[in-house]
Amino acid sequence: DAIGSSVQLGDLPLRADLRGASPYGAPQLDVEFRLNTNENPYPPPPALVADVTRAVAAAAEDLHRYPDRDAVELRTDLAAYLSTATGVPLTTANLWAANGSNEVLQQILQAFGGPGRTALGFEPSYSMHPIIAAGTRTEWTPTPRRADFTLDAEAAAKVLADRAPHVAFVTSPNNPTGGSIPLAGLRALIEAAPGLVVVDEAYAEFSSQPSAVTLLADYPAKLIVSRTMSKAFAFAGGRLGYLAAAPAMVDALLLVRLPYHLSVLTQAAARAALRHADETLASVHKLAVERDRVMDSLRGLGFTVVPSDANFVLFGQFEDAAATWRAYLDHGVLIRDVGIPGHLRVTIGTPAENDAFLAASKEIR
Ligand code: PMP
Repeated sequence: DAIGSSVQLGDLPLRADLRGASPYGAPQLDVEFRLNTNENPYPPPPALVADVTRAVAAAAEDLHRYPDRDAVELRTDLAAYLSTATGVPLTTANLWAANGSNEVLQQILQAFGGPGRTALGFEPSYSMHPIIAAGTRTEWTPTPRRADFTLDAEAAAKVLADRAPHVAFVTSPNNPTGGSIPLAGLRALIEAAPGLVVVDEAYAEFSSQPSAVTLLADYPAKLIVSRTMSKAFAFAGGRLGYLAAAPAMVDALLLVRLPYHLSVLTQAAARAALRHADETLASVHKLAVERDRVMDSLRGLGFTVVPSDANFVLFGQFEDAAATWRAYLDHGVLIRDVGIPGHLRVTIGTPAENDAFLAASKEIR
């Protein structure tokens, strides 16, 4: 046993509000087909790997020095990418980056949430939003989506006006349900919200809807758009998330970020990966085509499928989702039980992985 194993969590002077809480817990199991955490299934192309390796080797020469605290070159590259992707002319001052968009979201709640403040999300949605709220002691006030998991923008706008949360999270495309919110709906939400609106666009590259970045010029004091390199960019292991907002929003985050939070290695690797954006993002179209095939096939097998605009699909109906999840695992396919009764979520993989998932689905059905 490890030294100190006689002490249990319950023995520690943990904050009362964290007692009994569960950590984020997607199982990391060594299974042949891992379709559970919405990663890009295509490994980085050899030219990208070589470029990252070269860039990290060069950065290693400076490992005795702290990194650029403000990651200016990386933010400049991200601004160039996001400007091209959205058609909105962003500059370095509009961008901020951290170790995954989870850290970006945490910094947002550190600056704009906290004790005595509230955050709201339209559930079911990304399970980390309430966990980050708890960690920053921001009161979490969830609001349900429609029974079919779509968001009634008019009703949602009314909720935001009535409850006036300090921060509202709007995930588009939504994880784990897959649907996007059209721009007009987003605009109605932002118009109605007295507080900040954070549009979590972790899966934006897979979506057919325009980005909320196109609304930044209209709502600079209210809107933050968070994005990540973990999904479409095939850079989940590199840990790089970012946001686009007014420069003053970035100034606010500088007050709470830890100094030197992005290592020289991370900054160098992310910049190298961005240089290969065109190659990496070529997989997005392939994955969208596969997503549509998986949705059609599941429907053909008699499952209910929630229409998805992302690289994953929520499907059902199961009497016992936990038991069905286990049955997939027994077939060598790891998917995700996101806690929505009767439903499971599968990440779109390579065609071969999706075939394995569909073959298992046929037997489990
Ligand atoms: N937002 C959403 C909606 C997500 O699904 C995820 C990853 N599961 C994240 C943010 C965070 O991802 P990362 O920290 O890797 O950027």
